[in-house]
Amino acid sequence: MSYLTWAEIDLAAIQNNVRRMKALTGTRVMAMVKANAYGHGLVPVAQAAAAAGADWLGVARVDEGAALRAAGLALPILVTGYTPPALAAEAIGHELTLTVFDVETARAYAAQARALNRPARVHFKVDTGLGRLGVLPEDAPALYRAISSLDGLEADGVFTHFARADEIPDIPPLPSLPDDPSLPPDAASQLARFAAVLEALDRRPGLVHAANSAAAIALPGARFDVVRMGIALYGLNPSATVPCPPGFQPALTWKALVMQVKALPAGHGVGYGHHYVTGRPETVAVVSVGYADGYRRVLDVNEVLIRGRRAPVRGRVSMDQIVVGVSHIPDVQSGDEAVLIGQQGEARLTADDLARKWGTINYDVTTGIMARVARVYR
Ligand SMILES: *Cc1c(COP(=O)(O)O)cnc(C)c1O
Repeated sequence: MSYLTWAEIDLAAIQNNVRRMKALTGTRVMAMVKANAYGHGLVPVAQAAAAAGADWLGVARVDEGAALRAAGLALPILVTGYTPPALAAEAIGHELTLTVFDVETARAYAAQARALNRPARVHFKVDTGLGRLGVLPEDAPALYRAISSLDGLEADGVFTHFARADEIPDIPPLPSLPDDPSLPPDAASQLARFAAVLEALDRRPGLVHAANSAAAIALPGARFDVVRMGIALYGLNPSATVPCPPGFQPALTWKALVMQVKALPAGHGVGYGHHYVTGRPETVAVVSVGYADGYRRVLDVNEVLIRGRRAPVRGRVSMDQIVVGVSHIPDVQSGDEAVLIGQQGEARLTADDLARKWGTINYDVTTGIMARVARVYR
């Protein structure tokens, strides 16, 4: 292995997770591969998901969809974010389905479509409570009617997105929910609002969707025609309250090479600022990963696995290096593999473990692994 730090991606795990989700939900699956497939690699993950029976691919931006088309992926692709009208021609050329939530932008897409003499396919996004992109429920029926009537546009989908689907086991059943708009809407009340919007539309759209991974797992009423599977595609838990069901497999292992091992005397500073000073003679391993790889520069909590044992990171994380205390591990050598996320022998460090240490979520951990970290596919 000639890499200094690399992520090994198990594409069989990706395929397994798609199949598990289809079996669990009985619905179609949209594999959400935005953000370089949550750090796992856009094209290889999309190809694996497609081979395992994914029905759609989901991205945030047109350039991600264009890269999938350039790689030969033929599945329908939804761009769930905003597409500036200046990118509409490219999107239409690649047969990407765009998200719309206002009539001016929809008109601009329609004009591009007519100029190209090809349809602009769009899904209509309703903000049932996340407070992000989307039209508010009360405005949805009229806007959907206006958009559906635009010449050149094919409006064949309606969707929404949950704010709190990862809390589902904790929320009370729907009838007991107070109907107070000042309360933050939870998943069940968002679902009720979405159902009311669907009721109010003149015609049922071709494709209705609402569920992210958490809702797909824990809120069967939200599955509709297709579930948008993001974090669970990678075998990572949507949250502590909504973990992946048994059988889902994490796909990513992040490794780095031990570059040097040496014995430091007592009283020796380690790293910038000498935040750590050895209290007694200590053997340390210098490992080739740093904050420029996405390994966060937090103090006193980072750990890695070496020779199947946990080992603490000493002092500051540098741009390209960390220093690990290995006095308790015999025979560590230059050239050994350190595991930052994954399994080594009996020991395991998960993306959730790192997320807890870094004060963030597993999504942020894997999407934060930088481009300079090689992706290696199995
Ligand atoms: C990213 C994304 C998802 C996937 O969410 P997960 O929690 O990762 O399953 C679903 N829908 C939309 C609109 C998204 O942007």
